[in-house]
Amino acid sequence: MSEKQPINRTSNTQKNTSRQRDNNVRLCLGVTLFGAAIAYWLMKSDITSALGPKWDILSDKQYTLKAAERLSKAIQIDTRTFDGTPFDGSDPIYDNFYQFEKFLENQFPTIFKYLQHEMINTHSHLFTWKGSKPDLKPVVFMAHIDTVPILPDTISDWTFDPLSGKIAADVRSDTPGTWIWGRGASDCKNSLMGIFGSIEKLIDEGYKPERTILLINGHDEEIGGMRGDAQVAKLLEGRYGHDSVSLLVDEGFTGMTLEGDRFVAGLGMMEKGTMNVDINIHSEGGHSSVPHEHNSIGVMAAVIRDLEAIPFTQTLKPENPLAQYLDCLLEHNVTVPDQVKQGLAVKSKWPALTKWLIKDRVNRAFLSTTQAIDMIQGGIKYNALPEVVKTTINYRLAFDTTTSEVQKLIAKAVRPIAANYGYGFSSFEHEKDKNQSGRSLSLPHIKLAISDIEPILESAPPTPSDSLAFALIGGTCKSMYGDDTVIAPTGMFANTDTRYMWNLTRHIFRFNPSLLTHNAGVHTTDERISLEAHLNTTRFYYTLMHNLQGWQAD
Ligand SMILES: [Zn+2]
Repeated sequence: MSEKQPINRTSNTQKNTSRQRDNNVRLCLGVTLFGAAIAYWLMKSDITSALGPKWDILSDKQYTLKAAERLSKAIQIDTRTFDGTPFDGSDPIYDNFYQFEKFLENQFPTIFKYLQHEMINTHSHLFTWKGSKPDLKPVVFMAHIDTVPILPDTISDWTFDPLSGKIAADVRSDTPGTWIWGRGASDCKNSLMGIFGSIEKLIDEGYKPERTILLINGHDEEIGGMRGDAQVAKLLEGRYGHDSVSLLVDEGFTGMTLEGDRFVAGLGMMEKGTMNVDINIHSEGGHSSVPHEHNSIGVMAAVIRDLEAIPFTQTLKPENPLAQYLDCLLEHNVTVPDQVKQGLAVKSKWPALTKWLIKDRVNRAFLSTTQAIDMIQGGIKYNALPEVVKTTINYRLAFDTTTSEVQKLIAKAVRPIAANYGYGFSSFEHEKDKNQSGRSLSLPHIKLAISDIEPILESAPPTPSDSLAFALIGGTCKSMYGDDTVIAPTGMFANTDTRYMWNLTRHIFRFNPSLLTHNAGVHTTDERISLEAHLNTTRFYYTLMHNLQGWQAD
């Protein structure tokens, strides 16, 4: 442990809480063990006294049945969204969302009665449950309505029709019980229905929030969120101002896991930046009986080969969320692989540990920028030379890099190929070319540009872990999963609509409060969630809202 910050939990905890709050966020997160110790102290002192009644939801047979049927119905309403659809929410392409709105109104009449309801850009919802203490900052819970598409070629790979909302057993023997199947089951209709179910229950019990509770349900998260949650964020900033929200919870790839016999709640405190890059290669067309020595498809092949050879740095650093997560597990005596146990405590062993970690592609995503060549088009006829070849590449930025640094690496890899084949070259710095066809440049040429699919995004500012918000979420998890649950800061390598909420709060948590192993097939075939996981999601929001009563934050 020689390379870590020394810790004296009993004497330094309180002193460091105030000191770290005054410092920047990165410092707080850099000192993971302080953060964990402080959170533990805060939980013990503040949270247990505020714990509200428990809802034994898993044994409530009647509710269980109702919840399964509701989630099933939510899946049956097709709310898929597709890249490149119009900004205007009233466009008929979004008409299915009217059905979803009716469904919510029919299923949850008390929510529509007791909460103020606003629609933004036709289909995104903002619900306001006014608190009795208006001087307290509101909290925000988010869950989007839309889902990713279903690839037509994969429909036969689904066990059940992806829009059937089938209620059935799982395919795996280690996950018994009832499961709800279909597109959106986990991402994100589980959260949405869980939040609604918990609020309905609280209203029935006569709960009156002290602190205003805001629910946001965007209709285009899967295609960038510009049409929905970005607009809601603007409205909220105008209404409440900067830094006006005490905490925000949204979906996460991060969530509950079982490590041996210990529950671990991984809270997503960071989020990777993202950027989509279009590479267009234009060359002279013509009859394929008189081809050039290299045509644009061949040149694109060389471009892709060299892009895939970019040595993106893969380094374990103390600020990296994977390092913090593993550190926290070690500190709490959670069983971890020997390589982690022996390597993490000694910094000189970190390069070897990094090599071992990146064999796993999830770990690699945590430690470096990733690059996915997702789309390619070019050539339409066997006897015609392709005039245009286009590829779109999705980048997810390492937590400590920027979009401009990655753009430089891409240009550095592609420029020599252009020179080698005698092609013109235009890279990102040519702003004036960004939205033009590329044909304005002389042929042949290679053009790099930011795709207009969605705006580029830098990595999110880290959420501080030495806070009452961290303690509140952690305490809520402990009250659900047991006192020995480990609350570990970690990060998201995918993106959420929280990207639009940075001005509203520093306390953003991307978190799935159910076991991640009970959420399957997200963004692919056989998406499904166990009923138990869905009920635990509902119970989490119910417990959290109880714990908000008397919570001593701004
Ligand atoms: Zn989602």
